[in-house]
Amino acid sequence: MTLVRSKHVFSGRLSQMEESSTMLVMLAAQKLKAEGVDVVDLGAGEPDFNTPDNIKEAAKRAIDRNFTRYTPVAGVPQLRDAILYRYREDFGVERKREEVIATVGGKHSIFNILMTLVNPADEVIIPAPYWVTFPQVVHLCGGRPVTLQTAPEEGFKVTLDSVSRRLTKRTRVLILNSPCNPTGAVIPKAEFLRICELAAQHDVYVLSDECYQRFLYDGGAPYTAAAVPEELRHRVVVSGSLSKTYAMTGWRLGYTIGPAELIGQIAKVQGHETSNPCSIAQAAAIEALTGPQESAQKMIQEYQRRRDFLVPALNGLPGIRCFKPEGAFYVYPDIRGCLKGEMRTSDDFAARLLREAHVALTPGSGFGVDGFVRISYAAAYSALEEAVRRLGEFLRKL
Ligand code: PLP
Repeated sequence: MTLVRSKHVFSGRLSQMEESSTMLVMLAAQKLKAEGVDVVDLGAGEPDFNTPDNIKEAAKRAIDRNFTRYTPVAGVPQLRDAILYRYREDFGVERKREEVIATVGGKHSIFNILMTLVNPADEVIIPAPYWVTFPQVVHLCGGRPVTLQTAPEEGFKVTLDSVSRRLTKRTRVLILNSPCNPTGAVIPKAEFLRICELAAQHDVYVLSDECYQRFLYDGGAPYTAAAVPEELRHRVVVSGSLSKTYAMTGWRLGYTIGPAELIGQIAKVQGHETSNPCSIAQAAAIEALTGPQESAQKMIQEYQRRRDFLVPALNGLPGIRCFKPEGAFYVYPDIRGCLKGEMRTSDDFAARLLREAHVALTPGSGFGVDGFVRISYAAAYSALEEAVRRLGEFLRKL
Protein backbone atom coordinates (compact mmCIF):
# COMPACT_ATOMS: atom_id res chain seq x y z
CA MET A 1 0.00 0.00 0.00
CA THR A 2 1.38 3.46 -0.81
CA LEU A 3 0.75 6.11 1.80
CA VAL A 4 -0.19 9.56 0.57
CA ARG A 5 1.56 12.28 2.58
CA SER A 6 -1.24 14.82 2.65
CA LYS A 7 -1.20 18.21 4.38
CA HIS A 8 -1.88 18.38 8.12
CA VAL A 9 -5.39 19.50 8.89
CA PHE A 10 -5.86 20.98 12.36
CA SER A 11 -9.01 21.50 14.35
CA GLY A 12 -11.25 24.41 13.45
CA ARG A 13 -10.82 25.73 17.01
CA LEU A 14 -7.32 26.89 16.09
CA SER A 15 -8.36 28.79 12.98
CA GLN A 16 -8.77 32.13 14.79
CA MET A 17 -5.80 31.74 17.10
CA GLU A 18 -2.63 33.77 16.68
CA GLU A 19 0.89 33.24 17.94
CA SER A 20 1.70 35.25 21.07
CA SER A 21 3.40 38.50 20.02
CA THR A 22 5.24 38.64 23.35
CA MET A 23 6.74 35.23 22.55
CA LEU A 24 7.83 36.37 19.07
CA VAL A 25 9.84 39.28 20.47
CA MET A 26 11.33 37.04 23.11
CA LEU A 27 12.47 34.59 20.40
CA ALA A 28 14.04 37.35 18.28
CA ALA A 29 15.88 38.71 21.31
CA GLN A 30 17.02 35.21 22.32
CA LYS A 31 18.40 34.62 18.83
CA LEU A 32 20.47 37.80 19.00
CA LYS A 33 21.71 36.91 22.49
CA ALA A 34 22.74 33.47 21.26
CA GLU A 35 24.84 35.22 18.62
CA GLY A 36 26.65 37.03 21.41
CA VAL A 37 24.88 40.40 21.10
CA ASP A 38 24.38 42.35 24.34
CA VAL A 39 20.60 42.79 24.28
CA VAL A 40 18.76 44.82 26.94
CA ASP A 41 15.63 42.74 27.24
CA LEU A 42 12.54 44.53 28.54
CA GLY A 43 10.18 42.23 26.67
CA ALA A 44 9.30 39.58 29.20
CA GLY A 45 6.72 40.03 31.95
CA GLU A 46 8.80 38.02 34.37
CA PRO A 47 10.31 39.14 37.69
CA ASP A 48 14.11 39.32 37.60
CA PHE A 49 14.18 38.28 41.27
CA ASN A 50 14.79 34.74 42.47
CA THR A 51 12.10 32.85 44.36
CA PRO A 52 12.58 33.69 48.09
CA ASP A 53 14.62 31.13 50.06
CA ASN A 54 11.88 30.13 52.52
CA ILE A 55 9.72 29.05 49.56
CA LYS A 56 12.53 27.08 47.94
CA GLU A 57 13.28 25.37 51.26
CA ALA A 58 9.65 24.28 51.60
CA ALA A 59 9.85 22.64 48.17
CA LYS A 60 13.07 20.84 49.09
CA ARG A 61 11.47 19.51 52.27
CA ALA A 62 8.48 18.32 50.22
CA ILE A 63 10.75 16.27 47.97
CA ASP A 64 12.61 14.81 50.96
CA ARG A 65 9.40 13.64 52.60
CA ASN A 66 8.27 12.13 49.28
CA PHE A 67 5.40 14.53 48.78
CA THR A 68 5.65 13.57 45.14
CA ARG A 69 2.41 11.79 44.34
CA TYR A 70 -0.95 12.77 42.93
CA THR A 71 -2.93 15.06 45.20
CA PRO A 72 -6.64 15.90 45.06
CA VAL A 73 -7.42 17.60 41.73
CA ALA A 74 -8.20 20.96 43.39
CA GLY A 75 -4.97 20.91 45.39
CA VAL A 76 -4.37 19.67 48.94
CA PRO A 77 -6.79 21.10 51.54
CA GLN A 78 -3.87 22.90 53.23
CA LEU A 79 -3.17 24.83 50.02
CA ARG A 80 -6.80 25.76 49.45
CA ASP A 81 -6.91 26.95 53.06
CA ALA A 82 -3.61 28.83 52.61
CA ILE A 83 -5.09 30.76 49.66
CA LEU A 84 -8.13 31.61 51.78
CA TYR A 85 -5.86 32.56 54.71
CA ARG A 86 -4.02 35.07 52.50
CA TYR A 87 -7.32 36.60 51.40
CA ARG A 88 -8.51 36.80 55.00
CA GLU A 89 -5.26 38.47 56.10
CA ASP A 90 -5.03 40.87 53.18
CA PHE A 91 -8.68 41.72 52.55
CA GLY A 92 -10.62 40.49 55.59
CA VAL A 93 -12.76 38.29 53.36
CA GLU A 94 -14.08 34.86 54.37
CA ARG A 95 -14.55 32.34 51.58
CA LYS A 96 -15.09 28.60 51.87
CA ARG A 97 -12.74 25.82 50.81
CA GLU A 98 -15.26 24.69 48.15
CA GLU A 99 -14.94 28.15 46.59
CA VAL A 100 -11.26 27.79 45.71
CA ILE A 101 -9.23 25.54 43.42
CA ALA A 102 -5.46 25.51 42.83
CA THR A 103 -4.41 25.57 39.17
CA VAL A 104 -1.28 25.19 37.06
CA GLY A 105 -0.61 28.95 36.98
CA GLY A 106 -2.92 31.89 36.39
CA LYS A 107 -3.13 31.15 32.68
CA HIS A 108 -4.58 27.74 33.45
CA SER A 109 -7.10 29.31 35.80
CA ILE A 110 -8.29 31.65 33.02
CA PHE A 111 -8.45 28.82 30.52
CA ASN A 112 -10.53 26.68 32.89
CA ILE A 113 -12.93 29.50 33.73
CA LEU A 114 -13.61 30.32 30.08
CA MET A 115 -13.78 26.64 29.15
CA THR A 116 -16.42 26.16 31.84
CA LEU A 117 -18.52 29.24 31.04
CA VAL A 118 -18.31 29.99 27.32
CA ASN A 119 -20.54 28.41 24.68
CA PRO A 120 -19.97 28.81 20.93
CA ALA A 121 -20.76 32.38 19.78
CA ASP A 122 -21.00 33.70 23.36
CA GLU A 123 -19.48 37.15 23.65
CA VAL A 124 -16.65 37.89 26.05
CA ILE A 125 -15.88 41.57 26.62
CA ILE A 126 -12.17 42.31 26.80
CA PRO A 127 -10.94 45.83 27.52
CA ALA A 128 -8.06 46.87 25.24
CA PRO A 129 -5.13 47.15 25.55
CA TYR A 130 -5.39 43.58 26.81
CA TRP A 131 -3.08 40.78 27.81
CA VAL A 132 -2.44 38.86 24.59
CA THR A 133 -3.79 35.58 25.91
CA PHE A 134 -7.37 36.69 26.66
CA PRO A 135 -8.79 36.82 23.11
CA GLN A 136 -6.89 33.71 22.09
CA VAL A 137 -8.39 31.60 24.88
CA VAL A 138 -11.85 32.95 24.06
CA HIS A 139 -11.33 31.79 20.45
CA LEU A 140 -10.14 28.42 21.65
CA CYS A 141 -13.36 28.04 23.65
CA GLY A 142 -15.42 28.90 20.57
CA GLY A 143 -16.47 32.29 21.96
CA ARG A 144 -16.35 35.72 20.38
CA PRO A 145 -14.01 38.32 21.90
CA VAL A 146 -15.60 41.78 21.95
CA THR A 147 -13.04 44.53 22.38
CA LEU A 148 -13.75 47.48 24.61
CA GLN A 149 -11.32 50.27 23.70
CA THR A 150 -10.04 52.33 26.60
CA ALA A 151 -8.54 55.78 26.02
CA PRO A 152 -4.89 56.73 26.60
CA GLU A 153 -6.00 60.22 27.66
CA GLU A 154 -8.05 58.58 30.45
CA GLY A 155 -5.08 56.48 31.52
CA PHE A 156 -6.60 53.40 29.81
CA LYS A 157 -9.16 53.04 32.61
CA VAL A 158 -12.19 50.79 32.16
CA THR A 159 -15.36 52.67 33.14
CA LEU A 160 -18.92 51.64 33.94
CA ASP A 161 -20.14 53.64 31.01
CA SER A 162 -17.79 51.98 28.50
CA VAL A 163 -18.80 48.51 29.76
CA SER A 164 -22.51 49.26 29.55
CA ARG A 165 -22.09 50.24 25.89
CA ARG A 166 -20.59 46.84 25.01
CA LEU A 167 -23.15 44.65 26.76
CA THR A 168 -25.50 42.67 24.50
CA LYS A 169 -27.86 39.74 24.98
CA ARG A 170 -24.99 37.44 23.99
CA THR A 171 -22.52 38.75 26.55
CA ARG A 172 -21.47 35.92 28.82
CA VAL A 173 -18.28 37.10 30.49
CA LEU A 174 -16.53 40.42 31.13
CA ILE A 175 -12.79 40.19 31.75
CA LEU A 176 -11.26 42.76 34.07
CA ASN A 177 -7.54 42.90 34.72
CA SER A 178 -6.67 45.49 37.33
CA PRO A 179 -3.77 46.33 37.62
CA CYS A 180 -3.52 45.77 33.90
CA ASN A 181 -0.98 44.08 31.69
CA PRO A 182 0.13 45.91 29.49
CA THR A 183 -0.82 49.42 30.69
CA GLY A 184 -0.48 49.23 34.47
CA ALA A 185 -3.88 50.96 34.72
CA VAL A 186 -5.91 50.40 37.88
CA ILE A 187 -9.71 50.53 38.03
CA PRO A 188 -10.72 52.48 41.15
CA LYS A 189 -12.34 50.15 43.68
CA ALA A 190 -15.71 51.91 43.70
CA GLU A 191 -15.92 51.84 39.89
CA PHE A 192 -14.91 48.17 39.90
CA LEU A 193 -17.77 47.39 42.26
CA ARG A 194 -20.28 49.32 40.15
CA ILE A 195 -19.12 47.36 37.09
CA CYS A 196 -19.65 44.06 38.96
CA GLU A 197 -23.17 45.21 39.92
CA LEU A 198 -23.98 46.06 36.32
CA ALA A 199 -22.64 42.70 35.12
CA ALA A 200 -24.68 40.78 37.70
CA GLN A 201 -27.83 42.70 36.70
CA HIS A 202 -27.26 41.45 33.14
CA ASP A 203 -26.43 37.93 34.28
CA VAL A 204 -22.87 38.35 33.01
CA TYR A 205 -19.90 36.80 34.81
CA VAL A 206 -16.97 39.03 35.76
CA LEU A 207 -13.63 37.25 35.41
CA SER A 208 -11.25 39.32 37.52
CA ASP A 209 -7.65 38.51 36.63
CA GLU A 210 -5.76 39.56 39.76
CA CYS A 211 -2.33 38.36 38.77
CA TYR A 212 -0.90 41.83 39.64
CA GLN A 213 -3.23 42.34 42.60
CA ARG A 214 -0.47 43.39 45.01
CA PHE A 215 1.51 45.50 42.54
CA LEU A 216 0.15 48.91 43.51
CA TYR A 217 2.27 52.01 43.95
CA ASP A 218 2.10 55.38 45.71
CA GLY A 219 0.33 53.78 48.67
CA GLY A 220 -2.60 52.49 46.60
CA ALA A 221 -4.53 49.81 48.50
CA PRO A 222 -4.97 46.43 46.79
CA TYR A 223 -8.50 45.08 46.55
CA THR A 224 -10.03 41.86 45.29
CA ALA A 225 -13.20 40.86 43.51
CA ALA A 226 -13.38 37.93 45.96
CA ALA A 227 -14.61 40.47 48.53
CA VAL A 228 -17.59 41.82 46.57
CA PRO A 229 -20.84 41.74 48.59
CA GLU A 230 -22.50 38.33 48.99
CA GLU A 231 -25.31 39.12 46.54
CA LEU A 232 -22.81 39.57 43.68
CA ARG A 233 -20.59 36.57 44.36
CA HIS A 234 -22.55 34.17 42.16
CA ARG A 235 -21.40 36.15 39.10
CA VAL A 236 -17.82 37.01 40.10
CA VAL A 237 -14.81 34.75 39.66
CA VAL A 238 -11.21 35.56 40.53
CA SER A 239 -8.14 34.28 38.77
CA GLY A 240 -4.95 34.58 40.80
CA SER A 241 -1.31 33.63 40.46
CA LEU A 242 1.78 33.25 42.61
CA SER A 243 4.01 33.83 39.57
CA LYS A 244 4.61 37.54 39.89
CA THR A 245 3.99 38.23 43.59
CA TYR A 246 6.50 35.63 44.80
CA ALA A 247 8.76 35.47 41.72
CA MET A 248 7.52 31.94 41.03
CA THR A 249 6.87 31.97 37.29
CA GLY A 250 8.43 28.57 36.67
CA TRP A 251 6.60 26.80 39.50
CA ARG A 252 3.23 27.12 37.75
CA LEU A 253 0.88 27.79 40.61
CA GLY A 254 -2.30 29.79 40.39
CA TYR A 255 -5.88 29.54 41.63
CA THR A 256 -9.50 30.37 41.02
CA ILE A 257 -11.94 31.68 43.61
CA GLY A 258 -15.63 31.71 42.74
CA PRO A 259 -19.04 30.28 43.56
CA ALA A 260 -18.76 26.66 44.78
CA GLU A 261 -20.93 25.35 41.94
CA LEU A 262 -18.61 26.86 39.33
CA ILE A 263 -15.50 25.65 41.14
CA GLY A 264 -16.99 22.13 41.11
CA GLN A 265 -17.38 22.29 37.33
CA ILE A 266 -13.86 23.66 36.92
CA ALA A 267 -12.57 20.75 39.00
CA LYS A 268 -14.34 18.40 36.59
CA VAL A 269 -12.51 20.00 33.64
CA GLN A 270 -9.20 20.07 35.49
CA GLY A 271 -9.57 16.43 36.55
CA HIS A 272 -9.44 15.34 32.91
CA GLU A 273 -6.97 17.94 31.79
CA THR A 274 -3.97 18.35 34.10
CA SER A 275 -5.17 16.72 37.35
CA ASN A 276 -3.61 18.47 40.32
CA PRO A 277 -0.91 21.14 40.06
CA CYS A 278 2.60 19.82 40.84
CA SER A 279 2.66 18.54 44.43
CA ILE A 280 6.06 20.15 45.15
CA ALA A 281 4.88 23.52 43.84
CA GLN A 282 1.84 23.16 46.10
CA ALA A 283 4.08 22.74 49.15
CA ALA A 284 6.08 25.80 48.07
CA ALA A 285 2.88 27.78 47.57
CA ILE A 286 1.65 27.00 51.10
CA GLU A 287 4.86 28.53 52.44
CA ALA A 288 4.62 31.50 50.07
CA LEU A 289 1.06 32.30 51.16
CA THR A 290 1.34 31.64 54.89
CA GLY A 291 5.02 32.48 55.53
CA PRO A 292 6.63 35.92 55.89
CA GLN A 293 5.51 38.42 53.25
CA GLU A 294 8.46 40.84 53.56
CA SER A 295 10.31 39.59 50.46
CA ALA A 296 7.23 40.15 48.28
CA GLN A 297 6.83 43.62 49.79
CA LYS A 298 10.50 44.46 49.11
CA MET A 299 10.18 43.41 45.47
CA ILE A 300 7.15 45.65 45.06
CA GLN A 301 9.03 48.62 46.56
CA GLU A 302 11.83 48.03 44.07
CA TYR A 303 9.35 47.96 41.16
CA GLN A 304 8.04 51.35 42.28
CA ARG A 305 11.61 52.75 42.32
CA ARG A 306 12.10 51.51 38.76
CA ARG A 307 8.79 52.95 37.56
CA ASP A 308 9.67 56.29 39.15
CA PHE A 309 12.91 56.34 37.15
CA LEU A 310 11.46 55.05 33.89
CA VAL A 311 8.40 57.24 33.36
CA PRO A 312 10.11 60.67 33.52
CA ALA A 313 13.14 59.29 31.63
CA LEU A 314 10.88 58.13 28.75
CA ASN A 315 8.98 61.41 28.75
CA GLY A 316 12.32 63.17 28.25
CA LEU A 317 12.89 61.36 24.94
CA PRO A 318 11.84 62.85 21.59
CA GLY A 319 8.49 61.59 20.28
CA ILE A 320 7.57 59.50 23.34
CA ARG A 321 4.67 60.16 25.71
CA CYS A 322 4.24 57.96 28.72
CA PHE A 323 1.56 58.16 31.39
CA LYS A 324 2.38 57.06 34.91
CA PRO A 325 0.77 53.70 35.67
CA GLU A 326 -0.46 53.00 39.19
CA GLY A 327 0.26 49.29 39.18
CA ALA A 328 1.69 46.07 37.61
CA PHE A 329 5.26 46.31 36.25
CA TYR A 330 4.78 47.69 32.77
CA VAL A 331 4.65 51.06 31.09
CA TYR A 332 2.81 51.52 27.81
CA PRO A 333 4.24 54.62 26.13
CA ASP A 334 2.76 56.27 23.07
CA ILE A 335 5.34 56.09 20.27
CA ARG A 336 3.21 57.55 17.48
CA GLY A 337 5.46 60.62 17.50
CA CYS A 338 8.38 58.39 16.44
CA LEU A 339 6.63 56.63 13.54
CA LYS A 340 7.82 58.03 10.25
CA GLY A 341 9.03 56.85 6.82
CA GLU A 342 9.29 53.07 6.62
CA MET A 343 8.53 52.76 10.33
CA ARG A 344 4.74 52.81 10.40
CA THR A 345 3.68 50.46 13.16
CA SER A 346 4.76 49.44 16.63
CA ASP A 347 5.99 46.15 15.10
CA ASP A 348 8.29 48.10 12.75
CA PHE A 349 9.48 50.21 15.67
CA ALA A 350 10.22 47.22 17.93
CA ALA A 351 11.97 45.29 15.16
CA ARG A 352 14.19 48.22 14.21
CA LEU A 353 14.97 49.10 17.82
CA LEU A 354 16.04 45.51 18.46
CA ARG A 355 18.11 45.38 15.28
CA GLU A 356 19.85 48.73 15.65
CA ALA A 357 19.93 49.49 19.37
CA HIS A 358 19.61 45.97 20.79
CA VAL A 359 16.73 46.84 23.08
CA ALA A 360 13.88 44.31 23.20
CA LEU A 361 10.39 45.54 24.03
CA THR A 362 6.95 44.40 22.94
CA PRO A 363 4.96 46.08 20.15
CA GLY A 364 1.48 47.21 21.13
CA SER A 365 -0.16 45.56 18.12
CA GLY A 366 -0.51 42.25 20.00
CA PHE A 367 -2.27 44.03 22.87
CA GLY A 368 -4.96 45.37 20.58
CA VAL A 369 -3.82 49.01 20.47
CA ASP A 370 -1.10 49.97 18.01
CA GLY A 371 1.11 53.06 18.17
CA PHE A 372 2.27 52.03 21.64
CA VAL A 373 4.88 49.64 23.00
CA ARG A 374 5.01 47.73 26.26
CA ILE A 375 8.13 48.04 28.37
CA SER A 376 8.49 45.67 31.29
CA TYR A 377 10.38 47.06 34.27
CA ALA A 378 10.71 43.65 35.86
CA ALA A 379 14.37 44.09 34.97
CA ALA A 380 17.41 45.42 36.84
CA TYR A 381 17.54 49.19 37.43
CA SER A 382 20.85 49.33 35.54
CA ALA A 383 19.23 47.60 32.54
CA LEU A 384 16.51 50.25 32.52
CA GLU A 385 19.11 53.03 32.58
CA GLU A 386 20.96 51.42 29.69
CA ALA A 387 17.73 50.90 27.72
CA VAL A 388 16.81 54.58 28.08
CA ARG A 389 20.30 55.60 26.96
CA ARG A 390 20.13 53.35 23.87
CA LEU A 391 16.56 54.39 23.10
CA GLY A 392 17.58 58.07 23.27
CA GLU A 393 20.49 57.49 20.87
CA PHE A 394 18.21 55.52 18.52
CA LEU A 395 15.51 58.21 18.49
CA ARG A 396 17.91 61.08 17.97
CA LYS A 397 19.34 59.32 14.91
CA LEU A 398 15.91 58.93 13.27
N1 PLP B 1 -2.73 37.29 33.71
C1 PLP B 1 -1.95 38.26 33.25
C2 PLP B 1 -2.55 39.59 33.01
C3 PLP B 1 -0.60 38.03 33.00
O1 PLP B 1 0.17 39.02 32.56
C4 PLP B 1 -0.08 36.74 33.23
C5 PLP B 1 1.32 36.43 32.92
O2 PLP B 1 2.02 37.15 32.27
C6 PLP B 1 -0.94 35.77 33.72
C7 PLP B 1 -2.27 36.06 33.94
C8 PLP B 1 -0.53 34.34 33.96
O3 PLP B 1 0.55 34.14 34.72
P1 PLP B 1 0.92 32.64 35.18
O4 PLP B 1 0.29 31.69 34.24
O5 PLP B 1 2.40 32.61 35.16
O6 PLP B 1 0.36 32.51 36.55
